[in-house]
Amino acid sequence: MPTLPELSTRHIDPAAMPPGVAFMDGQYLPISKAKISVLDNGFLHSDATYDVVHVWKGAFFRLEDHLERFFRGMEKLQMTIPYDRPQIIEILKNCVALSGLQNAYVEFICTRGTSPTFSRDPREAVNRFIAFAIPFGSVANPEQMDRGLHAAITDLVRISPQSVDPTVKNYHWLDLVKGLYAAYDRGAETALLLDTNGNIAEGPGFNIFAVKDGAIATPDYGVLMGITRQTVFDLCSALGVRCEKRDISPDALKSADEVFITSTAGGLMPVTRIDDTAIGAGSVGPLTRQLTDQYWKLHEEDQHRITVPYPA
Ligand code: PLP
Repeated sequence: MPTLPELSTRHIDPAAMPPGVAFMDGQYLPISKAKISVLDNGFLHSDATYDVVHVWKGAFFRLEDHLERFFRGMEKLQMTIPYDRPQIIEILKNCVALSGLQNAYVEFICTRGTSPTFSRDPREAVNRFIAFAIPFGSVANPEQMDRGLHAAITDLVRISPQSVDPTVKNYHWLDLVKGLYAAYDRGAETALLLDTNGNIAEGPGFNIFAVKDGAIATPDYGVLMGITRQTVFDLCSALGVRCEKRDISPDALKSADEVFITSTAGGLMPVTRIDDTAIGAGSVGPLTRQLTDQYWKLHEEDQHRITVPYPA
């Protein structure tokens, strides 16, 4: 048996985590103190829905849309919480204000919760609402934003929409995580998963877009209806760029002029290599650049902003 000090040096300090503030069971807590029961079905069975919104320069971006998706998800999963939308906005504002973060990643979760008897009947569980704010994070780091991500099309198939409704944002991530390991094994930086028909679906935390001859396409089957994806549709219609929701085969993706991914965690992010194929000229394409600029410009406009009331 290894001695205790030997054991502990083999592990990263479990209390080491980013700064931030959480709300759970009616209280605001430092992120390191926010812990859920091992009996919560959200933990035991991934029986949960969640959403992630970001705060940029002191304001939430498209919070109403994230709340709409969250409440729709809870309804589909037959979950209820004792907070309405204005109360959740208040809780999220407080988490960010207490954290002091100007740029934040803000997650809110409804788990199935626990039942006093550990009943197998999900109707007997008391659903739990949790929220937290931590520093803003991105799928792509600054170097990858500059040169484009290198992605691999793995042979992994995203969980079937007949099994888990992908429009309910969920923690069924084992396929996505397995995809990441498969991508790393091939020297790539992220993974693109297939849908159940062999077309491109989505990746770990992002939607996928292809640009060909000035028009844009993105999958619509078996994917989360991303809020950043919706922002791309809005930008395209404002710019008069054609943008279609349709199937994209792996070959069509590899022969695109430009490829980019979208997520609340990072916005629009370029992909310049898929497997061994350079996309277009192998550098970030002009439409990707233009849409990325427009995406961040939109953050300056009042339309989608809800400001955070930081203490003076
Ligand atoms: N697809 C999946 C599986 C995701 O988890 C996410 C975000 O986490 C996305 C797509 C992108 O969605 P959004 O733009 O709303 O962040």
